Amino acid sequence: MSGSASAETATRPIIDIRSITKTYGSFCVLNELSMRVMPGEKLALIGPSGSGKTTILRILMTLETISGGHIEVDGQSLYHVPGSGGLLQPADEHHLHKMREKIGMVFQHFNLFPHKCVLDNVTLAPMLTKGASKVTAEKRAIELLDMVGLADKARSMPAQLSGGQKQRVAIARALALSPKIMLFDEVTSALDPELVEEVLNVMRKLAAETDMTMLLVTHEMGFAHDFADRILFFDRGKIVEEGKPDEIFRNPKQERTQSFLRKIIAAGHRV
Ligand code: ADP
Ligand code: MG
Repeated sequence: MSGSASAETATRPIIDIRSITKTYGSFCVLNELSMRVMPGEKLALIGPSGSGKTTILRILMTLETISGGHIEVDGQSLYHVPGSGGLLQPADEHHLHKMREKIGMVFQHFNLFPHKCVLDNVTLAPMLTKGASKVTAEKRAIELLDMVGLADKARSMPAQLSGGQKQRVAIARALALSPKIMLFDEVTSALDPELVEEVLNVMRKLAAETDMTMLLVTHEMGFAHDFADRILFFDRGKIVEEGKPDEIFRNPKQERTQSFLRKIIAAGHRV
């Protein structure tokens, strides 16, 4: 029995999105969307602007609510807790808080705390939300800053950093809570072209050296191709096509995927 239970755990998705709907007023952004992500998987979400990619990441981060459907993260319902009689009821803030710690997110615009130095940016959440001591939080922060190549900037203020450096601090900050899942939303889109590579390199390193599950929204098709185990192509709130990078980029089956890739190549992106 125990053997089959552990086999089951090994094949259980770490993210299981079942038929979720998200509406803003009468506008339906996601319509009965389902997707599963396996532990350790590296997934790239691509698709035109407005297709719902950011909305999915924000829903996973519990920065948005869902209008319908069900999500499980790491074997637990994200937005619901068991209520009386086994019925699910909406989760309270305590549950959301606990679930949120499983997931880290890095945004297009770094959102660092401008009045705190780099080190404080990275230690703040572990100290406030996990009750880590200053010594422990700083030790871990230095390790993470070292990993992103910024140990020497610990006492710098965000305004003294380049965009690429700020984004690397944002990655270190998200990692400080030791999430099982990392979400990256167009993290290089706001950067000058010469700063893109240093951020992508950090993500390559994370992918190579950790078993974290990573979901990435990107317009860097060359990076998505090399980085991802699987590509999901979104259009108008639906997954139009999914597959291995070579299948999607070299041999897309759907007309909408083909036309999106043609446009993005015409716009100067490398595939
Ligand atoms: P993507 O990241 O793929 O560009 P988004 O998830 O940001 O797409 O947005 C999907 C759609 O939802 C867009 O049409 C956008 O205008 C709409 N949308 C996103 N956030 C809101 C909001 N807070 N209120 C109303 N509409 C929104
Ligand atoms: Mg977006």
